[in-house]
Amino acid sequence: MGIFDRFTRKGAKTSETGSPEAGPGESGGADSRPAGDGEAVRSNSGWLGRIRQGLQRTGRLLQTDIRDLFKHDGELVDDTMLDRLFALLVKTDMGAGPAETIRDQVGREFRGRVVQQEDLVRVVRDQLYELLHQEEAPLALQTDPPTVILVVGVNGSGKTTSIAKLARMLIQEGHRVVLGAGDTFRAAAVEQLTIWAERLGAEIVTGPAGSDPASVAHRTVARALESGADVCILDTAGRLQTQSNLMDQLTKIRRVVEKLVPSAPHEVLLVLDATAGQNAISQARGFSDAVQCSGIILSKLDGSAKGGVIIPIRQQFNLPVKFIGVGEKPEDFAPFRPHEFVDALFADGNGPPR
Ligand code: GDP
Ligand code: MG
Repeated sequence: MGIFDRFTRKGAKTSETGSPEAGPGESGGADSRPAGDGEAVRSNSGWLGRIRQGLQRTGRLLQTDIRDLFKHDGELVDDTMLDRLFALLVKTDMGAGPAETIRDQVGREFRGRVVQQEDLVRVVRDQLYELLHQEEAPLALQTDPPTVILVVGVNGSGKTTSIAKLARMLIQEGHRVVLGAGDTFRAAAVEQLTIWAERLGAEIVTGPAGSDPASVAHRTVARALESGADVCILDTAGRLQTQSNLMDQLTKIRRVVEKLVPSAPHEVLLVLDATAGQNAISQARGFSDAVQCSGIILSKLDGSAKGGVIIPIRQQFNLPVKFIGVGEKPEDFAPFRPHEFVDALFADGNGPPR
């Protein structure tokens, strides 16, 4: 795996946050809290606004259900209340273990006491921050280009869309991007990526339908070397007849890429569909067995109220979630940062300002 250096920016238009749109006051480093009270957050126009909007369903479920625990201003924390809290947390797909952790912490702090809603929300938030904590995991952009990024995942998980999103983000940061349409098994997939490339102003390398994806990968990296592009993003097929076919294919892609750029691929990003729930987890297992991945893109977080699935995904795979997808548009995409994520879940104001 390549060196995990920080984003290198060539003529970058933005600060170090990894967000093309983050204006002053709405970025915040990975460790610092974002300016959660800023105008850009309240309006839905900014980058954090989009995350917030994308996480609305999960956020609403959490907030409404927590509110429903409170029939009065203050409520006694007893076993019944703790059981109800557990049940509502489980509904977000975070899994029983994490829901127990949160419930038990609430029990430790408040059992037998009458508490206000914001006290409970504060503990839930703090627990979510802890459960989602991960080391900072910026994209491994190389100081010596091109950076080669391989994108894998099952059909329909959101690979091609995520590639468009990632390309857009990198282009906005001043990088030159070449896309490789490696999903040659589906003609529509090549077409889809070609349309994105045109719209985004990225170069694209394609091959005829049914041609060898490894040859597309080879030509893409060769093109990037020739044109002095900064980043190559390679699309891949989501499904082959068998797991060993898939493994062979991805191994072959790795091999040809490595011949041109010995340290490549610098990232192998696994795209998982958040609406697939537990399925997303078994998908992840299949892929992480087949190919060594360096990070996860969790797509479609806007599509259900089950965004809590990010917790078991984080816990069961020793892989950082690098980006989240919160819609179909190329701008519906952001680096994953636990604090921003949790703050977005509680954005509509149940939580006290921290
Ligand atoms: P691929 O087969 O893995 O390449 O998946 P695609 O990128 O073609 O995406 C499959 C479908 O999911 C398309 O209709 C996309 O528009 C949609 N999609 C991808 N990412 C997101 C997302 O973050 N949110 C929503 N709502 N839809 C998404
Ligand atoms: Mg595709």
